[in-house]
Amino acid sequence: MAHSKALLVLENFIGGKFVPCSSYIDSYNPSTGDVYCRVPDSGKEEVEAAVKAAKNAFPVWSSKSPLERSQILNKLADLIEQDLETFAQAESKDQGKTITFARTVDIPRAVYNFRFFASSILHHMTECTEMATMGCVHYTSRAPVGVAGLISPWNLPLYLLTWKIAPAIACGNTVVAKPSEMTSVTAWMMCKLLEKAGVPHGVVNVVFGTGTKAGEALVCHPDVPLISFTGSTLTAQRIMEKSAPHCKRLSMELGGKNPAIVFDDADLTQCIPTTLRSSFANQGEICLCTSRIFVQRGIYSEFLKRFVAEAKKWKVGNPSDPTVNMGALISKEHLEKVRSYVKKAQAEGARVLCGEGVDFLALPTGNQKGYFMLPTVIAEVKDESCCMQEEIFGPVTCVVAFDTEEEVIERANGVKYGLAATVWSSNVGRVHRVAQRLQSGLVWTNCWLVRDLNLPFGGMKASGIGREGAKDSYEFFTEVKTITIKH
Ligand code: NAD
Repeated sequence: MAHSKALLVLENFIGGKFVPCSSYIDSYNPSTGDVYCRVPDSGKEEVEAAVKAAKNAFPVWSSKSPLERSQILNKLADLIEQDLETFAQAESKDQGKTITFARTVDIPRAVYNFRFFASSILHHMTECTEMATMGCVHYTSRAPVGVAGLISPWNLPLYLLTWKIAPAIACGNTVVAKPSEMTSVTAWMMCKLLEKAGVPHGVVNVVFGTGTKAGEALVCHPDVPLISFTGSTLTAQRIMEKSAPHCKRLSMELGGKNPAIVFDDADLTQCIPTTLRSSFANQGEICLCTSRIFVQRGIYSEFLKRFVAEAKKWKVGNPSDPTVNMGALISKEHLEKVRSYVKKAQAEGARVLCGEGVDFLALPTGNQKGYFMLPTVIAEVKDESCCMQEEIFGPVTCVVAFDTEEEVIERANGVKYGLAATVWSSNVGRVHRVAQRLQSGLVWTNCWLVRDLNLPFGGMKASGIGREGAKDSYEFFTEVKTITIKH
């Protein structure tokens, strides 16, 4: 395909330098359908160079004090923040998300990831026990592991990549990161700030490219002892297989099929707008998005009527329009996949109450070829239907009725995933009871997406292995040793 000169061309960042690649992949602007960027199609050779640079940088970086590393992380946070608007514009263009979301969620959180781990690294304590009868004292010491391989998805590009880079380097590791080939731009922009922030060459290396080439080369590299991965469950299985011969340490943040449970004593004035957001924010492309809404029968009709009326008000269109609620989906293929779920639900006899195939989507002239769809609400879906079982990862949510607490817990747990759930009720006893019994790494009651980074984040069942957060990330990115001293 011929490319105009205006295309943005990214380069790998290895050992503190931008390095061109011998081949490139096209990257699309999802809101126009145009190729606007070329991303290095890295493979073994590039990964080899990046791992070598990271290995070389490890002795000096790992021997710096936590305070020195903390100051550098804070400086990097400041630099990203100074460029917040440019980063937000780039993220919106690259991913299709609204500029408002990028401005208020993605980039501020990327900044905060660095600030948070810059601070938390200063406050960890190791353990110590005394065995007086043996004349012994035991204590633990923690040390960085080495070169960390970090692989991230396309839905929250810089947000999720920095959620890995920040704790990894705060703990004294050096890293080779591979962002999604579909959303590489903001990671590349961040690389331009590393030197100014004082990050020594080789501490952060970024290799761009596909999962099967660049990603697998990283996973299979013998000098990368740990992999932190966020992405789909299917890819995670492949990564586990490939890393098994090396016995790598793995952190896996995977997909979800998250329920919202709405009891008849819920405050619908809070529940409806929040559940709309939890279903459709970022085009429904957040692993924590709600895709199964269980509503107690007494309020089912009222909920559905109000929910659909509000969903219909959501404005879909040009992501750079600040009045737009929902931008474009990541790719043409993904849009087709999401649409196909709606068709399957219809074929099974479910009712599509608004959105795809029901309402007309009017798009601005420049966005006619973009990958847009309307927020879609489906009712009367059977629990065993693929729409209720599989992760759709788009703006589609199913609403079904339930009768009892016991029943809804069983149905909410009746999927292979276990990432996040929301429970809506004004009965404190009930929210505690239900939260305890849900098979879900995160349970939000009467709210959604309120996060304290100090606490564990991650999923049960097919939604993940391990947790991330202040203490959990520290434990993952360090190797612990127990030392016994006898006097
Ligand atoms: P994906 O699994 O296709 O890709 C994720 C990353 O892995 C990309 O960088 C990709 O290039 C790379 N990759 C693909 N194949 C690989 C391989 N064989 N070896 C090494 N790397 C490989 O996922 P996606 O489509 O980019 O993202 C969407 C998925 O991510 C959804 O399932 C979503 O739920 C999940 N997700 C989970 C969380 C969480 O925190 N639990 C957060 C965001 C997204």
